[in-house]
Amino acid sequence: METQVRRLSYSQIDETMIEEAGRIIRKGGLVAFPTETVYGLGGDALNPESSKKIYAAKGRPSDNPLIVHIADKRDLYRIVREVPEKAKKLMEAFWPGPLTMIFYKNELVPQATTGGLDTVAVRMPSDRIAAAFIRAAGGFVAAPSANVSGRPSTTTAAHVEEDLSGRIEMILDGGQAVIGLESTIVDMSVEPPVILRPGAVTEEMMEAVIGPLEVDKAIIAPDSGVKPKAPGMKYRHYAPRADLAVVEGSTEAVIAAINQLAEEAEAEGKRVGIIATDETKDRYPKGLVLSLGARKHEEEIAQHLFEVLRDFDETDVDCIYSEAFDEASIGPAIMNRLLKAAGHKVIQV
Ligand code: AMP
Ligand code: MG
Repeated sequence: METQVRRLSYSQIDETMIEEAGRIIRKGGLVAFPTETVYGLGGDALNPESSKKIYAAKGRPSDNPLIVHIADKRDLYRIVREVPEKAKKLMEAFWPGPLTMIFYKNELVPQATTGGLDTVAVRMPSDRIAAAFIRAAGGFVAAPSANVSGRPSTTTAAHVEEDLSGRIEMILDGGQAVIGLESTIVDMSVEPPVILRPGAVTEEMMEAVIGPLEVDKAIIAPDSGVKPKAPGMKYRHYAPRADLAVVEGSTEAVIAAINQLAEEAEAEGKRVGIIATDETKDRYPKGLVLSLGARKHEEEIAQHLFEVLRDFDETDVDCIYSEAFDEASIGPAIMNRLLKAAGHKVIQV
């Protein structure tokens, strides 16, 4: 199959292209589309055959459920059994936006979409191209991140092409994703609600609206052997080809440690990559240094993380050392993805 790429502009969203993309979904095909978090690989959420195609295109295990994307809040009520009061409050505060909530599903949602679960994950993206596309597609678009399973999520249409060209009908190109990390996931089917994946909507932001939340133990202590509640969290993710380790400690200690590790690795004939920041990138005389952006703007770090992991896959480095990030605001989400990419290999200095 030949994958059509359609470039759209936010200043004037081309209705003909949106209609064309919507028609593909309504006929059971697949379209990758931009959202404010990462690119999504969309299919009709209410059609089990479409969901099966999504799993096949990504090479994703079929017990790993998809997120259903909607464009109007009232559509939530059409696919779930009940909407708890706290979910209504979160919806008012953070939808449209980078927050996914889990509810008990009703019979309209096929098990193929929810990986056999009785619950469904729902999100209403704020991206305007995404919203127009979802409406044109019939209102319910199942979409995991638009990457081949195991690779970093995609934040540009070029990354989507790299992974999925020839496997899907169309890619809507809306430029670079603004947030760059997948949505926060919170399970509203339990009380108190549980955060299953950290994202741009933080624990503090939600707590200010609905009071205390719990955090899935598999996020806090990944080596504890606790089975994560979000099935997707148990799979190997984002792993670059090269061995990645995260170096944690004070800035000066981290710089010194990475320089020493780089020197030792090069002495063994290895090629070294370093994930740094604008503030520190000139402090590494050895290795291939890529910056994630300014540390003082954590949103920049988030926006570039997956891109930099992909960039390293284009090089011949054997090992990568990364600086760690602060645990404030979007920091936990950055560290969660980085640690998964590193298979939780952390060097404390
Ligand atoms: P992705 O869209 O690729 O970021 O993957 C969707 C994430 O949402 C995966 O980690 C899934 O495990 C999680 N997810 C989707 N539906 C559910 C659900 N009903 N219960 C728990 N986690 C879910
Ligand atoms: Mg994903």
